Amino acid sequence: MKCTKCGEQAVVPIRRHNAAFCTEHFFEYFDNQVQRAIKEHRMFTRDDKILVAVSGGKDSLAIWDVLLRLGYEAHGLYIDLGIGEYSKRSTEKVRKFAEERDAVLRIVSVEEEYGLGTTELARKAGRPACSACGLNKRYIFNREALEGGYDVLVTGHNLDDEAATLLGNVLHWNTGYLARQSPVLEATAPNLVKKVKPLYRLTEREIASYAVLRGIDYIVEECPMAKGAKSIQYKHILNQLEELSPGAKARFLFGFLEHGRPHFQEERERVEVRPCRVCGQPTTAEVCAHCRMLQRVGVAVAGD
Ligand code: AMP
Ligand code: ZN
Ligand code: ZN
Repeated sequence: MKCTKCGEQAVVPIRRHNAAFCTEHFFEYFDNQVQRAIKEHRMFTRDDKILVAVSGGKDSLAIWDVLLRLGYEAHGLYIDLGIGEYSKRSTEKVRKFAEERDAVLRIVSVEEEYGLGTTELARKAGRPACSACGLNKRYIFNREALEGGYDVLVTGHNLDDEAATLLGNVLHWNTGYLARQSPVLEATAPNLVKKVKPLYRLTEREIASYAVLRGIDYIVEECPMAKGAKSIQYKHILNQLEELSPGAKARFLFGFLEHGRPHFQEERERVEVRPCRVCGQPTTAEVCAHCRMLQRVGVAVAGD
């Protein structure tokens, strides 16, 4: 296998592009895909202050690495979810990454904030762990970005994540979610920060290759709470399709973004948002789902 660009020995094959790259040209390809996503969707510019949500996994550390290398002002935000050993090890990886690059890292601890970890919080709230955790993360991402005066929040969602979410939303015809699924979520309400996914054009495999070739030390295991999650099963199914027909995953997602999503526009405009009575973050209800969860558990929110 030879590099498509230079003819040297290739290290990363990319079947959906009918290409293969040596390390140098793979890095070039990777940066180009990220920059194309940023430009095409007007995610941010060099004047923006960027907050990258980092979990310690390959995706979020890879995008933080790319943005720092390209000279963006990108700070990290890590949420210590208090999920036993998994969180301890993730914390170490993120801290080490930031130290090595002299990058600014903000850390929020769920245990310090609520007096209990994510598992316990979910149990008390009577919610599935991933749903409670997701609510919590979204709330903290938005709050930290607003308080820190950031223009945009970056997450590490990749092509596989987005295609799996799309498959789930299509299988259930969640038209509201289909209307909102995008690499860019604009700040459409006061107190809402813009959210972007610059890795949406790159697959999990490509990102893992990038992280390994760049020597990024990341946490390999998935969150223990996510075992058996639907999204993981959808990823398996999509990978089987990809085997049969290279590029299927990308065609599914990019085709939806270009041709499918505009048809759900009306659905998006119907949703009315207003500030949560408790925390002020935008919600479609009187009190947002995050604050309702905390009220049920008996934890007070700042401003409550
Ligand atoms: P997940 O929902 O776990 O697939 O994560 C999706 C994205 O959310 C990651 O790529 C990160 O950008 C962000 N994220 C997940 N977990 C955390 C965390 N504990 N702290 C900060 N950001 C996170
Ligand atoms: Zn090459
Ligand atoms: Zn609220």
